[in-house]
Amino acid sequence: VFVPPDEPGILHADLDAFYASVEQRDDPRLRGRPVIVGGGVVLASSYEARARGVRTAMGGSRARRLCPDAIVVPPRISAYSDASKAVFKVFEQFSPVVEGLSIDEAFLDVRGLEHIIGSPSEIARKLKRAVREQVGLPITVGVARTKFLAKVASAVGKPDGLLVVPPDGELEFLHPLPVERLWGVGEKTARKLHAHGLTTVGQVAAVPELELIEMIGRASGRHIHALSHNRDPRRVRTRSRRRSIGAQHALGPRSRSPQQADIVLVGLVDRVTRRMRAAHRVARTIVLRLRFSDFTRATRSHTIAEATGETETILAVARALLVDALPLIDRKGITLVGVALTNLEDAGAVQLTLPFGREREQALDGALDDIRERYGSDAIMRAVLVGREQGPTVPLLPD
Ligand SMILES: [Mg+2]
Repeated sequence: VFVPPDEPGILHADLDAFYASVEQRDDPRLRGRPVIVGGGVVLASSYEARARGVRTAMGGSRARRLCPDAIVVPPRISAYSDASKAVFKVFEQFSPVVEGLSIDEAFLDVRGLEHIIGSPSEIARKLKRAVREQVGLPITVGVARTKFLAKVASAVGKPDGLLVVPPDGELEFLHPLPVERLWGVGEKTARKLHAHGLTTVGQVAAVPELELIEMIGRASGRHIHALSHNRDPRRVRTRSRRRSIGAQHALGPRSRSPQQADIVLVGLVDRVTRRMRAAHRVARTIVLRLRFSDFTRATRSHTIAEATGETETILAVARALLVDALPLIDRKGITLVGVALTNLEDAGAVQLTLPFGREREQALDGALDDIRERYGSDAIMRAVLVGREQGPTVPLLPD
């Protein structure tokens, strides 16, 4: 069957208030009531709590002031992990091409399946019903011709919604929306756009690309210009089962001290652990790669007993490796830091053997991943990256 490529064949499926919905599913007393997951920091909240102003990453005491009758429950990470795996199994029943974005959302390419399962909007309807019946959770599905628009559609369609954007109605749908809906527009960029009187996507679309670049920089300007015209050529791709996940960073000539190397290391570990968790994997081996001013290189690695996805554990190992190399760094000067995670395993295999008491860290990692996915990678920075002069000894996360 030939399906023209301009059919709206991309689904973005996103569970609604994921952690809170799992809690409401598992405890009938919580249904229909404001639920907050996490006491110190709000990791997730039900729509009943959101209606009262509660937001993810808000301090617990502020959340309770806004919503005194909220029921606060501790996170149950293994329950969320199980639910996520079950939902991804459902996704795979509906398309061979599933691209997971995080623990609770994925793109599905459903083109060419008309005679097997149904049209894209039929598939979206069936998918919603299957997730409800097989996993017991509400999910919103956006259907569009591009990934970007499908994601916008699911965001607009929440909660428990289904929103199809027809190819001849794309700009009518997109242009009245606030600029914050554009993928990659965080608070900072939004503020700059607002300062130029641009509050809707349509207003942004009317601005020439070069002017946008002047306002918000080259990369963002080009990116947002393209999105405001719904130009997004990316395909849905099944993430390949990679054997390692890595990132590296070159240091400028003025920033080659061990302290700078540590700051870079924190950022790199953050990035690779986030990517690893998005791929539902955990690692046993942490590799540190260094390059020095004389162009020589060094590699240090350490394998831990049990695979982990936790930023804090992996960072501790990476820092120990860096300390080990300090004499070399002092003598030669450092020009590049790289981190790689290898010996990867599926996250599911270790979830059940989690040492008790580590759930909070894991929940926090997950919540931070969610926030960055939604608001861009600099939405939350670790203390060491914000207050650079404080050096590496400050706690990794606010309590
Ligand atoms: Mg979600």
